[in-house]
Amino acid sequence: MKIIIIGGGIIGLSSALYLQAAGHNITIVDRTDMLNGCSYGNAGYICPSHFVPLAAPGIVWQGLKWMLNSKSPFYVKPSLNSALVKWGLQFYKSATQSHVEKSAVPLRDIALLSKQLYEEWTKIPGLEFSYDPTGMLELFQQEASAHHAEHTIKAAKELGIEARLIDKATLQQMEPDTEINALGAVYFPGDAQLYPNQLMTSLIAYLKSKGVQFEGNREVTGFTKNGVITSKGNLEADHIVVAAGVWSGELAKLLHLNIPMVGGRGYSVTYEDAPWKVRRSVILSEARVAISPMNGNKIRFGGTMEITPVNTPPRMERVQGILESVKRYFPAYDIPLPTPDKVWHGYRPCSADGLPHIGTLKNYPNVTVATGHSMLGISLGAATGKLVSEIITGDQLSMDITPFKVDRF
Ligand SMILES: Cc1cc2nc3c(=O)[nH]c(=O)nc-3n(C[C@H](O)[C@H](O)[C@H](O)COP(=O)(O)OP(=O)(O)OC[C@H]3O[C@@H](n4cnc5c(N)ncnc54)[C@H](O)[C@@H]3O)c2cc1C
Repeated sequence: MKIIIIGGGIIGLSSALYLQAAGHNITIVDRTDMLNGCSYGNAGYICPSHFVPLAAPGIVWQGLKWMLNSKSPFYVKPSLNSALVKWGLQFYKSATQSHVEKSAVPLRDIALLSKQLYEEWTKIPGLEFSYDPTGMLELFQQEASAHHAEHTIKAAKELGIEARLIDKATLQQMEPDTEINALGAVYFPGDAQLYPNQLMTSLIAYLKSKGVQFEGNREVTGFTKNGVITSKGNLEADHIVVAAGVWSGELAKLLHLNIPMVGGRGYSVTYEDAPWKVRRSVILSEARVAISPMNGNKIRFGGTMEITPVNTPPRMERVQGILESVKRYFPAYDIPLPTPDKVWHGYRPCSADGLPHIGTLKNYPNVTVATGHSMLGISLGAATGKLVSEIITGDQLSMDITPFKVDRF
């Protein structure tokens, strides 16, 4: 089958990997040169520990409080934009305890499948992405967070995910390079980490070597009965995959499908051979900041969730907020605010309930959508690609994808 994949982020590339291996003829169309999108500067966590969706109780009120602080981890740019208002209402409705409980098993299953597949990818000759299975530490500074950590560990154990409470002394032994200001941490030994920039460039090179066609700097603007309309003319295909990240909602509209979606902008800064070190992935719980050691000699500081239209200028005070948070937990780490050109930002494709949308459209059986992975696109990327391939090829699915139905809104 001739298949066009719209979007060369992790979801599009992973789908291409499995569809090409299943014998299909693949063309990836992307409106950029595919060198710096959301799948590049992220924290690179493969995290079965993240079984709670973004839409969870408490986040709405916490978000409203944080909105008063320009350096806070979560920010919604006030707007009367109707898409944002509709997304906000749906998000508010989804952020319930019962949604969290219903989402835990599917999120666990797709994350564990993905992790297993990334481990298989490490054996593919030519694919390099600095996979590191040393687990993840979630540091906390407040008593309330310590209490919450106990709940998290209990919930993780019920799901069969290993999680341990680490006291301050043990934490300091695990991370001996500098003094840490935290009460303790939750350690998730089953989490892993990769270097996303390397994964993406390596995947592109690998797919090219397998005959996958790339059409960069070519925007898809519409659909025909058997193909797509692009900025450089029409392309024909037997099947189309929409994996366009935060822009998938707009493309879905053209197919009469409602996928409420907003961009959750996040920022990161990456240093090579820096004096600031951690030995494994670290999350600063209260600050919602991620610290990722990558590729031997790199360290990346990232975070913030800024719900904003994709064309607004980046806000350096949010980057400053990230670096100030790092200093609160790692008092010796004085990281100067970099110049704007050294700061990366990307737009997480945030669905309205924090779950991805994966499946074929009822009214357009030659279109499959895979999007809305929010904060988990890398973590769930390998599994999503495999599921897309199974859906299109008609193979037995590796897991039940009912919770990820494309038309659930
Ligand atoms: C600061 C930060 C940290 C993060 N950390 C993690 C993490 O540790 N672990 C994790 O799992 N996730 C993380 N994420 C989230 C993760 O980066 C995203 O979920 C993931 O990259 C989304 O991948 P995607 O392929 O859906 O979208 P994208 O990577 O955005 O790719 C979509 C592509 O579609 C193209 N496109 C869009 N519209 C069109 C069109 N009309 N025609 C042609 N092409 C089009 C775009 O140009 C783009 O290249 C993080 C995100 C941020 C911002």
